[in-house]
Amino acid sequence: MENTQKAISSIYARLLIDYPFLSEWKVGFDNAKRRAGICRISSKEISISRSHIKNNPLEIIEDTILHEFAHAIAYELFAETGHGIKWKQIARDIGATPKAKGQFKVESAPWLLVHSCSETSNIFPIGERFRTNKKIRNYFLIGRPETKGELFFLKQSDYQQYKLGLLDKNRLQLVQ
Ligand SMILES: [Zn+2]
Repeated sequence: MENTQKAISSIYARLLIDYPFLSEWKVGFDNAKRRAGICRISSKEISISRSHIKNNPLEIIEDTILHEFAHAIAYELFAETGHGIKWKQIARDIGATPKAKGQFKVESAPWLLVHSCSETSNIFPIGERFRTNKKIRNYFLIGRPETKGELFFLKQSDYQQYKLGLLDKNRLQLVQ
């Protein structure tokens, strides 16, 4: 975290020379798990995910900081949002990878959404989830209304054990 603070300060100091309007902008941190950073135009704020900082090397985090600053600059100079031509040009100018998505690791989610099929008695993984949701009882897979009530959350670690044959199906804790 300390290294990240230093990186932010030095990037900010450097960018202020060419883009003095950035003095109105703030840089903060948030607890997002799925994205690295965000640029909030309405509040002139750049926010970097703490989990991104924890899970990636400093050079990747620096790239994220520059990526978000490029959004701030593209908006201030050209009112451009997103990863358009102006954003790409600015990203190159300030030394950010001019790509919409960076090459970084995200924390894996603790839960797996699964379909526990009553017909075949199999467990089918659907996707990773960061939290459980009681509404799952009312959901079904698209175009398959018969799966209503058969969708559950399962700990990723339990699913791995089950796949390896180390945990019996009837001992799995399926959560709804
Ligand atoms: Zn972006």
